[in-house]
Amino acid sequence: MSFSPFPDYKFKSILDISTDFLNEKEIKLLLLDLDNTVSPYKTQSPEKAITEWVEGMKKADIRLFIVSNNRGSRPKIFAEALGINYIGNAKKPFTAGIMRAIEISGFEKKHTALAGDQVYTDVLAANGAGIRSILVEPIKFTNFLLAVRYALELPFRRVKKGSDI
Ligand SMILES: [Mg+2]
Repeated sequence: MSFSPFPDYKFKSILDISTDFLNEKEIKLLLLDLDNTVSPYKTQSPEKAITEWVEGMKKADIRLFIVSNNRGSRPKIFAEALGINYIGNAKKPFTAGIMRAIEISGFEKKHTALAGDQVYTDVLAANGAGIRSILVEPIKFTNFLLAVRYALELPFRRVKKGSDI
């Protein structure tokens, strides 16, 4: 367990996370933040590129699981559209939602990672839960506050020292 704000790995988009990368790192369960990671805020269905990426993961036996702080209906809508499990209102950076997802999925922590766009919620929660953290760039800034938050996170948007990527 660590309270480091630095991610283990970094990608531009979840679409850049390949099955080869996950296999190499022995990640079998990939938890996904929803808003601005899988999809921009306010959209009501996943884009084709995401659907295809999810299908590729399933074929490679990578288990996906949405762990979202969103308290509305979006986690359920996206999880059902993508045919994967979900937890909404996960309250990241607290770790209970992540722990529950791991328990439901039945994988070990050492085979689990969480991919998300925010340092203060996603990366802190993953590191605190003792799983690996993958930081991606937010899909888009729909308002000024998101841009400010991103700017505040900039010092931490680089991988941990000693990361093996
Ligand atoms: Mg997010």
